[in-house]
Amino acid sequence: MERKVSKLPSDPGPAAWDALLDPAPQYPCLEADTTADVVIVGAGFAGLAAARRLHQLDPKQKIILLEARRIAEGPAGRNSGFMIDIPHKLDSKDYASNREDDLKQIAMNREAIRFNCEAAEEYGMSDEALTLSGKINAAATERGVTNNQNYAHHLAELDEAYELLDAAAMQEICGTSYYQGGLFTPGTAMIQPALFVRSVAQGLAEAGVVIFENSPVMSLNSEGQSWTVKTDKASISANKVILATNGHIESFGFFQRRLMHIYLYASITRPLTKEEVSTLGGQARWGFTPADPLGSTIRRISGQGGDRIVVRNRFTWAPNRFVSDGKLAGIGEVHDRSFRQRFPMLANVSMDQRWGGLLCLSRNGVPAFGEIEPGLYSACCQNGLGTVMGTLSGKLAAELASGQASDSLEAMQQFPDPVKLPPEPFSSIGANAFMRWSEFRAGKEL
Ligand SMILES: Cc1cc2nc3c(=O)[nH]c(=O)nc-3n(C[C@H](O)[C@H](O)[C@H](O)COP(=O)(O)OP(=O)(O)OC[C@H]3O[C@@H](n4cnc5c(N)ncnc54)[C@H](O)[C@@H]3O)c2cc1C
Repeated sequence: MERKVSKLPSDPGPAAWDALLDPAPQYPCLEADTTADVVIVGAGFAGLAAARRLHQLDPKQKIILLEARRIAEGPAGRNSGFMIDIPHKLDSKDYASNREDDLKQIAMNREAIRFNCEAAEEYGMSDEALTLSGKINAAATERGVTNNQNYAHHLAELDEAYELLDAAAMQEICGTSYYQGGLFTPGTAMIQPALFVRSVAQGLAEAGVVIFENSPVMSLNSEGQSWTVKTDKASISANKVILATNGHIESFGFFQRRLMHIYLYASITRPLTKEEVSTLGGQARWGFTPADPLGSTIRRISGQGGDRIVVRNRFTWAPNRFVSDGKLAGIGEVHDRSFRQRFPMLANVSMDQRWGGLLCLSRNGVPAFGEIEPGLYSACCQNGLGTVMGTLSGKLAAELASGQASDSLEAMQQFPDPVKLPPEPFSSIGANAFMRWSEFRAGKEL
């Protein structure tokens, strides 16, 4: 049966992290029919990890990676760059879940971080591309401080390392007196998303993985043991196909009405001048996630593209996986407000770029993972923590497709399927009401 792809990916605004870098190496577009042992669709964290693991397991097999856009132009190059090891449940008030789920999540996140750290070493990446610096949960309100204390208590019960920071320690790090406290945890890896993704792609290409950019998959067809993957210009015959398209797997006709599509948004300042850097004070690089999950993630970066600040907040529900540029402009005003409140000493600093990107969650917080038809595998639905869960699901989909057993694969296969969403308009009304109320409640954390 031929499965036609009903919609191609689109994210609003530019791929701003990529624009900070020198022009990227170009990979060709698929223009002639060919064959492969495995085709991977989507070159985000999942697709790149699947390609790397497949190559590790059998360097002789022909692996083709197809990306609809340029490498690092999709969500993998648009995120805030926190590869978080500890639990980070976005629908909880302080990110925590129950002990058993959290221990499982920590083990999975750390496996993904190890895999990515090995890639960073193998491909000779700089500290800017990936560094194991840890991260801080920043609290701007009493409620945020309490969230941090509750979370710290939970981490202590899990035997996890952490350090609670007071307002003075926070100001020393970030230069502003906006924050009342912070919770430092050491296991997060921080990435420059576009630099990391580009570097992995380049390493894979040098190892022999064939990458095609600007090659959107338009249909899938299976005949006997073989799959035909058609792009807009040519087709590939392969024994196995891994779909690493996150929420866009719905466009292929799978997991329909079971996935929640949410856009996240960010803005980045113009480069700070030397004087502005010194007026701000603090360290050259730091990363704060909000003590309230619906608050603002803030990063100070220093490297290619200069010294800048990145603000990430607002979630919008998008069942049709599309957001207009007009909506992005409105959300930009919230970013500006969050920035001004935190950095009154940088009153003349404006935003240079704004963008959004698509996330995929399931109602029961599980991945859309496994062999969905003979020879066709899904490594999708990362539930917000896509840098780690995307990496892990891609790695494990490669193991599943190669018949390589592992404890992690067994654990991943134990998750139930994503449950069905309530019918429309109830899903949209419920999700929008929850997000707007949670953002309102986040107050100064936003
Ligand atoms: C602003 C923002 C901040 C974020 N911050 C963080 C963070 O700090 N930490 C974190 O862990 N996560 C974060 N995320 C989420 C994270 O970026 C995603 O969850 C992650 O990128 C998912 O990885 P993935 O490989 O599964 O999917 P994606 O990165 O979305 O990759 C899927 C790829 O498939 C391609 N594709 C889709 N359809 C087709 C087709 N038909 N043919 C060919 N290719 C196709 C897409 O173009 C895309 O490149 C953030 C997201 C945003 C938008």
